[in-house]
Amino acid sequence: MDALSNRPSYQLAGFLYLLAVSLAAYLGGFAAGLVATVLATLGLDFFFTPPRHDFIPVNGDQVAGVGLFFVVAILISQLFERRRQVQQQAEAATARANRLQAVTAQLAEAVTPQQVLDAIVTQGVEAAEARAGAIGLLTTDGDTIEIVAQRGYEQNIFVGWESFPLSSDTPMGKAIREETPFFFSTSAERNAAFQTMARIGGPSHALAILPLVVEARAIGAIAFTFPTEIEFNAERRALKATLAQQAAQAIDRVRLYEGERALRQRMTFLADASELLGSSLDYETTLAQLARLAVPEMATWCSVDILAPDGSIQRLAVAHEDPDRVAWAERLGEEYPPDPDQPMGVPNVIRTMTAEFVPEITDELLVEAAQGDERLLDIVRELGLRSAITVPLVARGRALGALSLIRDDTVPRYTDLDLDLASELARRAASAVDNAGLYREAERRGDASRALAHVDDGVVLLDEDGAVVSINPAAARILAVDEAAVVGETALGSIGGWSEIEDNARPEQGGTRGPVTLPLVLSDGSERWVSVSGVDFGDGAVYALRDVTEERLLERTRSDFVATASHELRTPLAAVLGAVKTLRRDDVSFDPDQREVLMDMIDREAERLSGIVGQILLTGQLDAGRLRLEHERFDPVALTKSVVDSAELHLPSGIELRVQAVDDLPAVAGDENQLRQVISNLVDNAIKYSPQGGDVELRLHRNGQFARIEVADSGLGIPRDEHHRIFEKFYRLDPALTRGVNGTGLGLYISKELVERMNGRISVDSEPGRGSTFVVEVPLAI
Ligand code: ADP
Repeated sequence: MDALSNRPSYQLAGFLYLLAVSLAAYLGGFAAGLVATVLATLGLDFFFTPPRHDFIPVNGDQVAGVGLFFVVAILISQLFERRRQVQQQAEAATARANRLQAVTAQLAEAVTPQQVLDAIVTQGVEAAEARAGAIGLLTTDGDTIEIVAQRGYEQNIFVGWESFPLSSDTPMGKAIREETPFFFSTSAERNAAFQTMARIGGPSHALAILPLVVEARAIGAIAFTFPTEIEFNAERRALKATLAQQAAQAIDRVRLYEGERALRQRMTFLADASELLGSSLDYETTLAQLARLAVPEMATWCSVDILAPDGSIQRLAVAHEDPDRVAWAERLGEEYPPDPDQPMGVPNVIRTMTAEFVPEITDELLVEAAQGDERLLDIVRELGLRSAITVPLVARGRALGALSLIRDDTVPRYTDLDLDLASELARRAASAVDNAGLYREAERRGDASRALAHVDDGVVLLDEDGAVVSINPAAARILAVDEAAVVGETALGSIGGWSEIEDNARPEQGGTRGPVTLPLVLSDGSERWVSVSGVDFGDGAVYALRDVTEERLLERTRSDFVATASHELRTPLAAVLGAVKTLRRDDVSFDPDQREVLMDMIDREAERLSGIVGQILLTGQLDAGRLRLEHERFDPVALTKSVVDSAELHLPSGIELRVQAVDDLPAVAGDENQLRQVISNLVDNAIKYSPQGGDVELRLHRNGQFARIEVADSGLGIPRDEHHRIFEKFYRLDPALTRGVNGTGLGLYISKELVERMNGRISVDSEPGRGSTFVVEVPLAI
């Protein structure tokens, strides 16, 4: 050994051979190292161990040397092999960690369920070293598993398996039910456990199914399919479990986030809808807008149907994102009008006032809905309708219509949350429609009561118990009551004179009565003639009242006038007749004086007769508006004096007539003859109503642009509250007040009419027992 080692060439060769072995082991692993070791040992023995070029060692040292070399080379190879393995393991671990890290990173960024699923089935499949993967989630009702994402499988593998019951004999069903993972190294193993899977072919491969567990509850499962058969060691199982756990947490987090976002979206949608509903009282437009608002957020299709007063169902609005589709749907709606007796859909919802919720529109359902109409069935099939909600629009216990929301298969199905939202939306829409109706009604009533407030006829509305529901201002005035005091009270108890109305004008149930004219003694003690008619409308009665006191009075005055006028005419006529008969007597001879007295009498009475007839005729002319007045300029003083002069001719004893006039009174403008009639009428009255005699003074002076003519007597006088009435047609004071002085009640009426037609005015100032002063003012001529 020493001899060998002492040789520098031998040592160097040995060192170089060890280097070569190391290099081979480093690069190629243990197998390469072993080959290099054998070759190096042979090379060292053949080329460098004496005897050279011979494999047979000559002594024990040489054998030991070659053996030692061999052992060292083997050890070096093993060393490098170990190192190499450690490095490979480290690299694999790093790669796995990186893949897991990639999954985690992508999951952290995911905000929609789809993004989570994408991250898991793309990155996750890779991290799990699988060929394909799928995720199934439990639906909200917890009975069904829905395949929500898949990757790497052949196109059609999930056809018919988009969703299946949790109770099914499937790896996912079992994994979720038992909350346990299943690992199958071969297809045969899987098929043995699940008969249903046997038909799913392909070369034999491994399969791992893990439940997705959140808060100790399985929400779904993830499946990994491997390209080949694999033995699942503990490490592999742990990795899959980690992936499943991350997936479950991410799905849960996103679901929470999604739930919150959906809630926010719902709240915003409801707020928008409420604002829209409150924005207008035109409910038709508003509901149409609401339908548009629901699309596409809430529905692919949204429609609003309204129950018409005749019981038919009318489509108020259809909304879809595509206007062409809306037009098409409207045409279809006209072609297939809803039958109110239809056992399902809008008519049923309106009839039963209960929502219809079809989370999954199945083909059987479409067939049933089409009721044998093949064309309709084709149309609805083509629409790809997936899920539907129809909610009734109910206000104050009455169905007004229905709101329908439909989603097609491009969007997720409706859930119970959507049903809640739709119900809330319908509730708000119905109350908006109802409010609009109430408002219209109130406005209509408001219009009616405004009209009633302005009519002169009284209207009283009583309920079926006879209580006053409403009374318009005219009725309150006619019945002398306070509107506020009687509303809510019974008419009999609160309105004076109502018993008279009740007795004479109360209509039969559903009938009408009247009009009848009744004298009523009112609450304030006054009497009034009221014409009343009543109509009963079932829930109460309405009475129309008209105050006819004036008309009644006029009528009475008129009949009084006929009596008065006949009396007035008869007196002078009798005098004339008497005088004529006397004059014609053969048995009496009259001296000229006696004859003169009688002739005088005839003259005077005939004059009086003609005066009365003249007044009646003039009144007729004034009433018919046929009297034409002159517009002339004349001296009022001269006119007054001439009237006084003619009155002086047959002035009763005890009466003295005087005229007092200012010197410079200008001329007036008017009809001289008619003004003469007025002044002479006032002078006649002044004399007539001074039975005790006295002074009658006529005073003339200027009052601004008027000439003022006063006729003052010291006679009977007139009570104050009669002042305005004495100018009325036919009106005469009570005979007790006039001591039986005759008259027609036309003189002052005519005077007033004439003066006013001359743009003048007439008034009286008087008190009983203190005489009267009548004042006439006529405009001065300019
Ligand atoms: P009559 O023909 O009755 O006099 P008038 O119209 O001239 O009709 O007068 C209406 C009523 O006014 C009379 O009935 C009388 O009661 C009252 N009257 C008119 N003038 C006087 C007067 N100067 N003094 C008192 N009463 C008068």
